[in-house]
Amino acid sequence: EEIDVEQFITTYLDMFRLKYHDLKLSYKITGVKTFVTDPVLLGSLFQNLIENAYKYSAPDKREVKIRILTERRNIVFSFADKGIGIPKSELENVFKKFYRIENKYNQNGSVGLGLAFCKELVNFMDGDITVKSKENEGSEFIVTLPIDS
Ligand code: ATP
Ligand code: MG
Repeated sequence: EEIDVEQFITTYLDMFRLKYHDLKLSYKITGVKTFVTDPVLLGSLFQNLIENAYKYSAPDKREVKIRILTERRNIVFSFADKGIGIPKSELENVFKKFYRIENKYNQNGSVGLGLAFCKELVNFMDGDITVKSKENEGSEFIVTLPIDS
């Protein structure tokens, strides 16, 4: 289904603002305005990445900046937070099933499946997901999806 990126984002972010009153959300779109994807799958990606950014940030630093841009024939979604970050030695592990890093923001009921699920989803969508992070500064998750699928 053809997705209007701006329309998708505004609708989705409004929903998130209702759920998390203390989360700052902003977005910037450059490049293509529409692309073909499954909005439910795209929504699941947003849900997992934004929820993590919220959980793993100090209460006064709950902020996600979303950037959407076009790179060759791909649409790239970047989610940047100002959270606790991920130790360098753990970066390669976070997409593994049931992998969690012990930290003060771990909650009961978290099982360590969110990012493994994201990885499966983007593979299914013929895309990719990567992470950059600095401890105590923040993390950036980057999802790359093909525009023509
Ligand atoms: P679940 O998503 O199943 O509720 P979870 O959030 O612990 O549990 P994942 O979403 O797979 O599991 O994330 C794996 C681990 O990566 C987390 O335990 C957390 O330590 C770390 N992590 C994920 N996202 C972030 C983030 N934005 N900032 C800092 N650490 C993160
Ligand atoms: Mg999670």
